Amino acid sequence: MKKKLIAGNWKMNGSLASNEALLRAVLDGMAQQAPACDVAVAAPAPYLAQVQALTAGSSLAVAAQDVSAHEAGAYTGEVSAAMLKEFSVRYVLVGHSERRQYHHENDSLVAIKAQRALAAGITPIVCLGETMQEREAGLTEAVVKRQLAAVIHLNGHCISEIVVAYEPVWAIGTGLTATPEQAQEVHAVLRSQLAAATEQPDRIRLLYGGSMNAGNAAALLAQPDIDGGLIGGASLKAPDFLQIIASVK
Ligand code: PEP
Repeated sequence: MKKKLIAGNWKMNGSLASNEALLRAVLDGMAQQAPACDVAVAAPAPYLAQVQALTAGSSLAVAAQDVSAHEAGAYTGEVSAAMLKEFSVRYVLVGHSERRQYHHENDSLVAIKAQRALAAGITPIVCLGETMQEREAGLTEAVVKRQLAAVIHLNGHCISEIVVAYEPVWAIGTGLTATPEQAQEVHAVLRSQLAAATEQPDRIRLLYGGSMNAGNAAALLAQPDIDGGLIGGASLKAPDFLQIIASVK
């Protein structure tokens, strides 16, 4: 049976000292109570070596927050999938709403990034979700289907290797959370879209992200199509992150 996945997204937070304290506390907690799920943390690129070193030999997986759509070459500031692989990166976020919003990443670029990750043996966590304006206009289903369709179109043959994170934009970092029913409704739509693209749609983990915290995680994770969480703010506090991990049964 597939394991759920709890992934922390540190965003642009941290320092060598605070990362070490956070990771040691998370690793201690995981040693005291073995998680019933897979666990990863997505660190800023300069800290990947530190996270790799501190998590070596543990079950805490290293994740990155972005990857270049290019393989190599004159792309100043970019980090390639092959480079991430050298730091034991197992997962990489692609298409996070903050990248779509502030860096104008579109669906086709996100699909290429997913392709680059897969080619390097890294699992892309494809983030998608609607804005509040889109939800209020009744466009939620159309938006998430369009975002996922681009990734399926380019990566069809290995689509069962991806992870999808449904993250309603209005719920990210706002304290507003989709209700378990709202999240499940969208996850069911995504699952049936994946079922048309692969014979093994149930192998694909569909995460929910958006103000998930120690208080609301259990109810969200109990939904039939919610296979884990992508956690921003609460992943920066070891006790909260550990409590979310512990709420996976
Ligand atoms: C995120 O950054 O992916 C996220 C879900 O953030 P938060 O949990 O803070 O809403």
